[in-house]
Amino acid sequence: MTDWEILNAGIEHAEHAIAVYQFEGKRKRVVCVSDGMFCMMRGADEADKPAFLRRLESDRYRNVPTEDARILTEEVRRFASGGGLDIVYRETLGRNSGSTLIHAVGHHHVLDDGERVLIVEYADLTAAAWTQVQPRKPCEQSLQSFLDQSDLALLAVTKDRGELRYCNARMKSLLKPARDFCVGESVSQWLLGWEDADILERIAAMDGRGNQLFCAREGEDLAVRVNSGTWGDEAVYCIQSDPWSELFFDALTGLPNLSTFYRKAPGEIGRIRKRGKSPAFVYVNFFGMKAYNARFGMEEGDRILKAAAGELRHLFPNALCCRISDDHFLVLAEDRDLEERLADLARQVQRRASGSVLQLKAGVYDGALSNKPSQEEISRACDGARLACGQIRENARRSWCRYDTDVQEQFQKKTYVLANYRTALKEHWIRVYYQPLYDTQTGKLAGFECLARWQDPNRGLLSPADFIPVLEQHHLIGLLDQYIVEQACREAPLRAQKGLGQVPVSFNISRDDFDYGDVYENVKSTADRYHIPHELLIAEITESAFSRDSDGIREQIRRFHEGGFQVWMDDFGSEYSSLGNLQNLDVNLIKLDIRFLHAYAQERRNGDGTRSAALLQAVVGMARALHLNTLCEGVETREQLELLRQVGCRGAQGYFLGRPAPLEQIQVE
Ligand code: C2E
Ligand code: CA
Ligand code: CA
Repeated sequence: MTDWEILNAGIEHAEHAIAVYQFEGKRKRVVCVSDGMFCMMRGADEADKPAFLRRLESDRYRNVPTEDARILTEEVRRFASGGGLDIVYRETLGRNSGSTLIHAVGHHHVLDDGERVLIVEYADLTAAAWTQVQPRKPCEQSLQSFLDQSDLALLAVTKDRGELRYCNARMKSLLKPARDFCVGESVSQWLLGWEDADILERIAAMDGRGNQLFCAREGEDLAVRVNSGTWGDEAVYCIQSDPWSELFFDALTGLPNLSTFYRKAPGEIGRIRKRGKSPAFVYVNFFGMKAYNARFGMEEGDRILKAAAGELRHLFPNALCCRISDDHFLVLAEDRDLEERLADLARQVQRRASGSVLQLKAGVYDGALSNKPSQEEISRACDGARLACGQIRENARRSWCRYDTDVQEQFQKKTYVLANYRTALKEHWIRVYYQPLYDTQTGKLAGFECLARWQDPNRGLLSPADFIPVLEQHHLIGLLDQYIVEQACREAPLRAQKGLGQVPVSFNISRDDFDYGDVYENVKSTADRYHIPHELLIAEITESAFSRDSDGIREQIRRFHEGGFQVWMDDFGSEYSSLGNLQNLDVNLIKLDIRFLHAYAQERRNGDGTRSAALLQAVVGMARALHLNTLCEGVETREQLELLRQVGCRGAQGYFLGRPAPLEQIQVE
């Protein structure tokens, strides 16, 4: 093979744009051009290479603007006479209308027969700039170089065709492709060497789901997170991976996990302070998640948690947010507009949830922290936020609470109650207090309500408000209720001695008792053990217990009735208006909540009290129409007692008639 042949064969099919020229005097001859050159520069009218070659020889500068053509001619002449060539000029390529920047680099080459040729390589700078330099704004450029060096592996793939737009060095080192990629090439072509239509579908399925395993090549899983984004103006999937991500991020929501939170918190506190603001820890809990999962399925539950995580990120854009577990989240943010942002969060999550069983509760800790807070301090702050959140757990009207001394005291009390509950039962620190019930028409004693009191050797008298909610929360209330029934039965002979043997006593049953045990069986067997006639025992069940699973409760009530016990509905009017429900409930009496008389007292202070009196009358009238007796709680004055008599409410209970007291203090007239 001669050098000419070698040259021709090497260049003819090259992908790069290369041309070989020979100069004979002033005349230029095109020896050959590569396929790449033909592709890049041929005009619309040049169907084959010979036509293209002819144009290059006769009209080389047809597509070059005049000013550039002048400079180019000058440079080429110098090149032909022995110099080098290195020039950037403009030329309109192919069918395009705008001109493209071309970089031409030329050198001389002497063949074995002594002939000299000039080899010129052309590069399309505009295309190169588009792929390499874009995005071109300085800030974008620095962002790109940052991404290039980031430890976080990144890959951007267009949503419509799965074409590669960006891949940083870290991602390349993880994916280990055989070669570098060309922009616009499909991700499967690049990674696998063939088109795999499923790969895009698999990527789409991971969108927004936090860490997922992505398998690009057989047997090689990679933990990645996929998020929708834009690259330039195209919709892309941004695929990120961090070799340690599983250890630091929550798999469902992609939020940092608790250990990451602890690790990052000191730095974050520093940043907040640098901005002149003070940090706050926010503990967020969605109540009702269990019920939501049960009703709509785990998948829907997961969807809501992810949505909640997304909203958190959105509402606390620069804050440190983490998912602790289940439906518990923690945020470290600037202490400003927290109330509004939390209200927004509640609204957004509510909006996305099917039905409305989810309720957001949040606790905020904004106490002082040292200059360089230790892990213990941060942990205490998180605990504070959690306690504040727990404080309003049972309070339907409050959705957030700040940590303060009250929360602290409540917590200490709670801990104390839980730690000493069993001792209190065993040592009889818990006692029955009796509060008398009267008949407003006859003025006679009609019974007693049994109320629990905890006479603590260390802390003095604890009222039910201190221990009942805690016990209910921890599903321990059943023991107490059983204990009170037992004590009331045990004390029956003492009551008889006082001449109170013929009046019934009522006891309280929590909703929880029905869920965690057979309360009817307990009451019945206790009554029988002490030989107490069943008609002398009354079960008080709060109105709120009827709101859930009313069928189950109805069945329990039926058993009490069949066993000869009375059942009363307690706290009527305290929860929700259920006048319509009354007719379906087989109770003997409804106890009107204290707030009826509170409302009356309040109205009396400012005027005549006719409205609240009318309301009371209406409720009593309706109960009577349904053949239900009524008793009103909270009678504190003679006037209130008189009102009850007037509106036909037969039963009365309240401090005016007698405070709850241990049996030995009960006076009998
Ligand atoms: P409740 O069943 O509605 O009991 C009536 C409450 O009103 C009692 O509070 C009683 O002391 C109070 N009270 C009575 N008359 C008046 C009055 O004239 N004015 C005012 N302001 N209050 C009055 P207590 O004893 O603190 O009990 C609070 C709640 O704790 C009870 O409300 C009941 O729901 C619950 N509870 C008490 N003992 C037990 C128990 O043994 N088991 C269960 N499950 N709950 C209990
Ligand atoms: Ca009661
Ligand atoms: Ca009550």
